[in-house]
Amino acid sequence: MALIVQKYGGTSVGDPDRIRAVADHIARTARAGNQVIVTVSAMGKTTDDLIRLANDVAHDPRGREMDMLLTAGERISIALVSMAVNDLGVPALSFTGSQAGIVTDTEHGNAKIVEIKGDRIKEALDSGNVAVVAGFQGVSTAKEIVTLGRGASDLTAVAMAARFGADACEIYTDVEGVYTADPRIVPNARKQSRITLEEMLEMAATGGRVLALRSVEYARNHGVKIHVRSSFTWAPGTWVEEENPNMEQAIISGVTHDASEAKITIEQVPDQPGVAGKVFRSLADEMVNVDMIVQNVSTAGHTDISFTIPRVDVTRSAPIMDKIVAEIDAAGYQTDDSIARVSLVGAGMKTHPGVAATMFETLANNDINIEMISTSTIRVSCVVRESDVERAVVALHDAFELGV
Ligand code: ASP
Ligand code: MG
Repeated sequence: MALIVQKYGGTSVGDPDRIRAVADHIARTARAGNQVIVTVSAMGKTTDDLIRLANDVAHDPRGREMDMLLTAGERISIALVSMAVNDLGVPALSFTGSQAGIVTDTEHGNAKIVEIKGDRIKEALDSGNVAVVAGFQGVSTAKEIVTLGRGASDLTAVAMAARFGADACEIYTDVEGVYTADPRIVPNARKQSRITLEEMLEMAATGGRVLALRSVEYARNHGVKIHVRSSFTWAPGTWVEEENPNMEQAIISGVTHDASEAKITIEQVPDQPGVAGKVFRSLADEMVNVDMIVQNVSTAGHTDISFTIPRVDVTRSAPIMDKIVAEIDAAGYQTDDSIARVSLVGAGMKTHPGVAATMFETLANNDINIEMISTSTIRVSCVVRESDVERAVVALHDAFELGV
């Protein structure tokens, strides 16, 4: 008997018809002789609506009460999905994150999983039920209800799959899998039948919106095989799994882009040991996530340092930046929030030189200026003007012949 974890995102359970369609698929999977754990997100845009509601009644509604509110969204979904499955004659039981024994640290809004007890899930499965677990939530070591961060229903599914050694973790969404680029921008983008967890990790980190980053990290750390697929067509999607050493890897498996970051440049920084440490320590202490960093060659004992941070953190980091500039005696700083990043990801890059060169040439041939560059062993990223980024994606997708 196989154990399958199925996760359904917000659009997959967006209305009663969708919930019945999903229930039908769950019931079929169970009737075929599988044990099934289901994880669901809140219906449609429920989470956004609840956040808006909270902001309408309070100025800074973060923390305990916000989590109490937001977890209600997934609670609605688990009850409705279970009812619909039961209605088809297949027994199903719903569980909140807390009931499922998803134990976390105490960071409201972004809690980390420390343990999954899962006794009640095991009991439910052993007695022939489908277990329907609320995504995105858990109970902290301080016994408070917490959420695991936006998009974290994926993480709940992967964590359940890891805990119970599932044969597959199916993530059902509104796209058919992982594409070589965003099909809304590149109409001939190709669905990948397979990519590696490493590639998926780089894609999720650079704007690929199919899977939440932390869920991919968790999958890699625990060896979970993910199948991303559509709950609208039910067609086979993309398998995301460990690299197969016997198979040759595609040089490029995708072009991603991300326009959610801003660039900060600190001007005329004294070129002395310890300065960069001070700058980035101050930002880290305030939990601002710094990404690409570039330091220029110094002239006359001074240099510029540029780096990117999430745009949503720009306002919050302004007072920190003012303090840093004064402390290190720099001339000042500039914020530029019209940048975007375009990235090429591919495991085959490791053994094929010339990818970066072709990327830079392609951008140059399209009159797109590169402002920053960063690389990993399987990724090359360039920061460009936001207004150029879609052209950049199309041009690179073409240049590397990734389309159908
Ligand atoms: N409902 C939560 C969110 O919108 C969790 C999820 O959908 O994965 O972020
Ligand atoms: Mg999601």
